[in-house]
Amino acid sequence: MNLTRHLRVDPGSTVDLGAIDPGFHGEHNSEVEARETLCNNLGLMTKLQRQLDADRKHSLLIVLQGIDGAGKDGICWHVINGMDPQGVQVVGFKQPTSEERDHDFLWRAHSHAPARGRVAIFNRSHYEDVLVVRVHKLVSEEVLEPRYDFINNWERLLSVENDTTILKFFLYISKDEQLARFKERLDDPAHQWKISASDYTERHYWNDYIKAFETALTRCSTDYAPWFVIPSNHKWFRDLAVSQIIVDALQDMKLELPKPTVDIQEIHRLYRQEAEAAGTKERH
Ligand code: AMP
Ligand code: MG
Repeated sequence: MNLTRHLRVDPGSTVDLGAIDPGFHGEHNSEVEARETLCNNLGLMTKLQRQLDADRKHSLLIVLQGIDGAGKDGICWHVINGMDPQGVQVVGFKQPTSEERDHDFLWRAHSHAPARGRVAIFNRSHYEDVLVVRVHKLVSEEVLEPRYDFINNWERLLSVENDTTILKFFLYISKDEQLARFKERLDDPAHQWKISASDYTERHYWNDYIKAFETALTRCSTDYAPWFVIPSNHKWFRDLAVSQIIVDALQDMKLELPKPTVDIQEIHRLYRQEAEAAGTKERH
């Protein structure tokens, strides 16, 4: 099954999350079965990201969104782990600071847009300004409404001006799965620090969040910056799907290693001279 095609929100289509199963797990039936493909993807990702860095023509922006407990941090640990940290920047979007509030909502996102050769991961993103802000009516309808077009235009700017490939992942879990994950956090002293009281109060707004996600996914999935709905009840499938889509996108870039800037024959000659002087044999 081609996961990139299957999980992509087709531009112009209307998203109904009720029709998507967050427990979907594709052709593999367990973590053990999926392990080989995941390892393979992570290996390819490492190789391709190094080429992206060397090629310096394209950049990659990965947006992670999802309700609390959906696994945004998990993706950063388990998937992005496959990349060389020198070429990647992970940016967490928290409540805006007072300086950020004094600017337009895209200002803080734009300052973290990836340079050519680099990868940026947004753990939450500019979409918070049409998600939590919409659910809690933090701005008026008049301010909110144009934001979808502003987002599309800004993402197009990155795509056209900076050859940025944009992949947006909505990590979709069920309400029951969220409660089960909250319980795991509660029972595991190593994870209790992640608990916040707002996890529970926000749950009361579940349906409003689902509607806000449906609107954002419907209005902002474009050819140049598509959304993907990632069924995430199974963490192993979530990791597999995200890694597969990233690998496909990197392969589509047709990355090339730059040509050497020196005459390689001449460097061979210089090397042989040095090796002879040092009395070492050339290694094959
Ligand atoms: P976490 O990702 O769990 O550390 O939580 C970050 C919190 O910041 C979440 O509750 C987000 O909804 C909130 N947040 C992020 N961006 C915004 C924003 N633009 N306006 C209001 N709250 C936000
Ligand atoms: Mg959280």
